Amino acid sequence: MLVVISGPGGVGKGTVVRHLLERDPTLWLSRSWTTRPRRPGEAPDAYTFVDRQRFEAEVERQGFLEWAEFLGNLYGTPVSEPPPGHDTLLEIDVQGARQVHARHPDALLIFLVPPSPAEQERRLRERGDPDDVVRRRLARAEQEAAAAAELGAVEVVNDDLETTLDAVAGLIASARAAGPTR
Ligand code: 5GP
Repeated sequence: MLVVISGPGGVGKGTVVRHLLERDPTLWLSRSWTTRPRRPGEAPDAYTFVDRQRFEAEVERQGFLEWAEFLGNLYGTPVSEPPPGHDTLLEIDVQGARQVHARHPDALLIFLVPPSPAEQERRLRERGDPDDVVRRRLARAEQEAAAAAELGAVEVVNDDLETTLDAVAGLIASARAAGPTR
């Protein structure tokens, strides 16, 4: 089964994903490739960091399940198989979610939304992104929510972390129970 977590920058996807992986050892997080430079303090294995030329060569050889340009940088999910007995978790933007949905209509699509735009802005600033990036990410958030709704993604408000984790774990459990086609 494929589980896709999307949501605007600053919604707390990273935190939710980290805790989900701790809760459920049968989930396997796919590591994306990106041409974005590593942020100060960001883990070296947060992504496979590559230059544009390397990324484009991988697109050429059809090495990605999906890929997208997000605010000037390329991001992609390498084609891969999870270890036996695991379900794959993808943390990607909605353009990527659309491509996954097209190839795997049974994938579970979850779209996290912030409790409020003010809280989202606070989280983005806390992360240390420059001012113009914060503004572009906020503007982008509205388009993403509309696109996610169109895809039929399940919306989960990320206010209290434990409540969010319970909701997401519940969705995954239901999808698993729905059968092996997923
Ligand atoms: P960030 O630069 O904040 O790490 O990520 C920017 C956006 O790219 C986020 O919405 C994140 O979920 C998305 N993203 C990360 N990896 C991928 C990927 O492999 N494919 C796509 N389509 N989006 C990704």
